[in-house]
Amino acid sequence: MLDDCVFCRIIRGEIPAAKVYEDGENLVFRDIKPAAPVHFLAVPKRHVARLADCGEADAGLLSSLLLAAGRAARRENVGDFRLIVNDGAGAGQTVFHLHAHILAGPGLTEKLL
Ligand code: 5GP
Ligand code: ZN
Repeated sequence: MLDDCVFCRIIRGEIPAAKVYEDGENLVFRDIKPAAPVHFLAVPKRHVARLADCGEADAGLLSSLLLAAGRAARRENVGDFRLIVNDGAGAGQTVFHLHAHILAGPGLTEKLL
């Protein structure tokens, strides 16, 4: 937990967020500035800055995060969805607490890759 990390503050309940899913290790909430009809953020409760910082010791955290993202999408009935991780400032990361964007809804059929 970092004092000044916005996602740690959401996890601690210091900043409100529209939560859609929670388990012991993860929180999923709506992005404050949605870029798609459905836009959730899946974050681990333990502060990890970015994927490139993760090692073997974080394997459990990472698998749990992916499972939580899938579970949240299923429970919210979002249909097909896209998962995006911006890892590092050069890739567009602005909040340095690992998170996966869950994007869904009409208009996502155009493929980036
Ligand atoms: P990044 O640009 O790091 O991949 O994604 C960070 C995301 O966090 C952005 O889509 C931004 O809109 C979202 N965000 C930043 N601050 C807050 C906040 O206080 N609450 C919520 N719900 N989302 C936030
Ligand atoms: Zn954090």
